[in-house]
Amino acid sequence: MLQRRRIPDDLWELTLARFPFLARRSRQDVQQLREMATLFLARKEFSCPGDTPVTDEMAVAVAAQACLPVLKLGLHWYDGFVGIVIHPDAVQVRREHTDEIGVVHEYDATLAGEAMEGGPLMLSWRDVAEAGESAEWGYNVVIHEFAHVLDMRDGVADGVPPLPTRAERARWAEVLQAHYREVCEQVDAGEETFLDPYAAEAPDEFFAVASETFFVAPLDLRDEHPDLYELLAAFYGQDPASLA
Ligand SMILES: [Zn+2]
Repeated sequence: MLQRRRIPDDLWELTLARFPFLARRSRQDVQQLREMATLFLARKEFSCPGDTPVTDEMAVAVAAQACLPVLKLGLHWYDGFVGIVIHPDAVQVRREHTDEIGVVHEYDATLAGEAMEGGPLMLSWRDVAEAGESAEWGYNVVIHEFAHVLDMRDGVADGVPPLPTRAERARWAEVLQAHYREVCEQVDAGEETFLDPYAAEAPDEFFAVASETFFVAPLDLRDEHPDLYELLAAFYGQDPASLA
């Protein structure tokens, strides 16, 4: 298992080639990403269900994509959990939902990933591996689930990560709510949405979906929703559209 040692050159180059959105930044930032991914591998525990081994290729693919959002925030944002479970494909689960009048509805859900407070974090390898191609439509399961981790760092999954000042929290609420309402109205009206319509599920899903697009299709997001782009750029401390 690749832990407590440098990611080999060939594996790192392969990872950058498979996920080109990782490489579209300055040389220093790519180097910083590699160092952070190495630390990430040392701090997290990877497993697959059953006896399937986690390969170095899988672990590095997850680590590099997971570290992208915290490149400027710092790896301590992920201190709240250790375990990462990689399933071969999306997972079918039975879910319950209690509606406003207290009726419990059961339904089947297909999960490409899941983040819970305290962990473990679950990912579908098929979705992780296809992230190079799916970047075209702004989809990235690793960034989605790790955005949930950032959001939940203050103990609540509400689409608002911990922000240092009252002014930043107010600005966040204003911009995020306006875009969230807009996407909800578009979905209700059966209209096309720029972001994946899953963003209309809840504010925390909106933040996770917007974060995916911010990192893998930044030019599109900046063109379509410049104020949302600016908000995320300020939070993440990155301006990926400037290098895309
Ligand atoms: Zn989600």
